Amino acid sequence: MSDTMRLTNDPCRMLDELNRRRIGPHTKMQCKVCHYIYDPDEGCPEWQVPPGTPFNDIPDNWDCPACGCPHSSFILADGEHGEDDINF
Ligand SMILES: [Zn+2]
Repeated sequence: MSDTMRLTNDPCRMLDELNRRRIGPHTKMQCKVCHYIYDPDEGCPEWQVPPGTPFNDIPDNWDCPACGCPHSSFILADGEHGEDDINF
């Protein structure tokens, strides 16, 4: 195994990348703690995130407006299929 291989093989990074690719511009995301749903078509008035902002484009310091947990604890909302699944 080469050093280059080891660098690109960071599991956290890969998982993050995989999740990001599954989130489309209209994919709703749900807080797994309080079940708040972020809808990209509505944005997030509490954070002055304008309607039409994909989940991937909201600021890194954005927290769940309902319970305050970081946006890394958001998962695909019920009934949402990742962009990848559509091609399946
Ligand atoms: Zn929450």
